Amino acid sequence: MPLDILAIGAHPDDIELGCGGSLAKLARDGARVHALVLSRGGRGCHDGADRSGESHRALQQLGALHVQQCDFPDTCFPACRNELIATIERACAAVAPQRVYTMCGQDHHQDHRTVHECSIIACRGVGQVLCYESPSTLPQFAPQVFEDISAQLEQKILALREHASQGERQYMQESHLRCHAQFRGQQIGIGPCEGFLAHRMVL
Ligand SMILES: [Zn+2]
Repeated sequence: MPLDILAIGAHPDDIELGCGGSLAKLARDGARVHALVLSRGGRGCHDGADRSGESHRALQQLGALHVQQCDFPDTCFPACRNELIATIERACAAVAPQRVYTMCGQDHHQDHRTVHECSIIACRGVGQVLCYESPSTLPQFAPQVFEDISAQLEQKILALREHASQGERQYMQESHLRCHAQFRGQQIGIGPCEGFLAHRMVL
């Protein structure tokens, strides 16, 4: 049976930046990757940008089988906790994932922290819950789990180019994406990596 994977993000681009290489690797190996994007990211762009379309295309390039786009209000997630928990619970029930990727709680952004807290509650029955970093993750983020994405880094960079409305952001620059992956890999002496905090890891 192929693995079912659920990746959860607050805004378009969170999933791709935090675990896009890992998802591409899982999809390559036959996993069914499902993405849950909880807002359309209206605060992070000029009027008219289709951030959810950008994210949809990027996630499909990374091998996602299914993308569920929700419309929670960008920057106001703390006021929507119960609805967020219910939405993530429904996604968990529909996908029955063996592993969840969600946002980590060590983050400046209130939406990211709220997604972390709500995921931990909603995914209480999932054996593997890994928390990925974002551009606003705090410096103390110290990953315990690493995925070697040497063979997926180019695919991740190409997929992130779909986010044309975010193209000027420093963390979207190709040089930054490469350096960050190399930094994570260097922490354990291998090639480019993504790093995660393990909330729960049943082997
Ligand atoms: Zn975000």
